[in-house]
Amino acid sequence: MLEEQKPLISIIVPCFNEEEVLPIYIKEMESIIGGMKTARVEIIFVDDGSTDGTAEMLRQFHSRRQNYRYLSFSRNFGKEAAMYAGMQAALGDYVAVMDADLQDPPEYIPLMFQTLKKGEYDCVATRREDRKGEKRIRSFLSASFYKCINRLSKVKIEEGARDFRMMNRKMTDALLSLGEKNRFSKGLFGWVGFKTKWLPYHNVERAAGDTKWSVAKLFRYSLDGILGFSTIPLSVASYGGIFFCGLAFVMIVFLVIKNLIWHDPVAGWPAMMCAIIFIGGVQLLCMGIMGQYLARAYTEIKDRPIYILRSSSDEEDEKQQENF
Ligand code: UDP
Ligand code: MG
Repeated sequence: MLEEQKPLISIIVPCFNEEEVLPIYIKEMESIIGGMKTARVEIIFVDDGSTDGTAEMLRQFHSRRQNYRYLSFSRNFGKEAAMYAGMQAALGDYVAVMDADLQDPPEYIPLMFQTLKKGEYDCVATRREDRKGEKRIRSFLSASFYKCINRLSKVKIEEGARDFRMMNRKMTDALLSLGEKNRFSKGLFGWVGFKTKWLPYHNVERAAGDTKWSVAKLFRYSLDGILGFSTIPLSVASYGGIFFCGLAFVMIVFLVIKNLIWHDPVAGWPAMMCAIIFIGGVQLLCMGIMGQYLARAYTEIKDRPIYILRSSSDEEDEKQQENF
């Protein structure tokens, strides 16, 4: 088969301060790519505003090999933005997303490609079978999040699904057509549909460096998931409002009757205070929920780009061609 006739696989690798792990990653990937005879591979590294030597390292990778491309953000926009940017830049017939820290086994890449090539599936994705090596509290919070989101959302969000996956062009284009700003890919993957084959995945620890997800980042991410894929919290707010209005009405009727029939004067300021504080709290909560949706609608309306590029390998190549 001629080189140009081979299908192209684009592998998107979001990188945020990954200088420690990138040399190990590239070494592992080189041996995997070397063994793939029926496909061409391009790796698109997305430097998500790293403050260490990541950007420079990516530039060096590109100067060594043309098919190691990079995009460098002007600041940290988050992994979701990095995945989107990578998908926009990907030229491949198949597009994969993979972490830089080797927690996603590179040997799955040829396997995923073989499965997709047959055409029966549109996507091959990985799902965690265990959570070895993860802090207990994180596993617990994670499991609760999936339970909660699957109750609230119509779109099925696979528990333990990782972002590590390979998709065909059709599915990639479908994902690209969803231009929302508060992106939650685990939900978007489910929303676009398509036939997905699930591969089991056993948790491995990072090859080097530390996790880039703080508790605050994970919390915001979960909130994006729930608010982006369900409007039930809004209904809860309105149903709660109806319920408490009803309750208050019954209480008023009860107090009036008590006063008229039994001439029992209304007393009990403490109980009243409790009720006022309780209702006040419920109202604030409901307003907060509405506020969260409003804030999201606001960011969508502002229509700011999902990411801003500082530099990229394509730009570098163009400049070089101009100089010739
Ligand atoms: N990452 C990113 N931007 C961020 C946080 C993470 O691009 O703001 C990248 C990171 O470099 C890595 C991947 O996303 O390649 C997964 O991050 P990490 O390994 O820290 O997450 P974990 O595996 O602990 O969930
Ligand atoms: Mg990781």
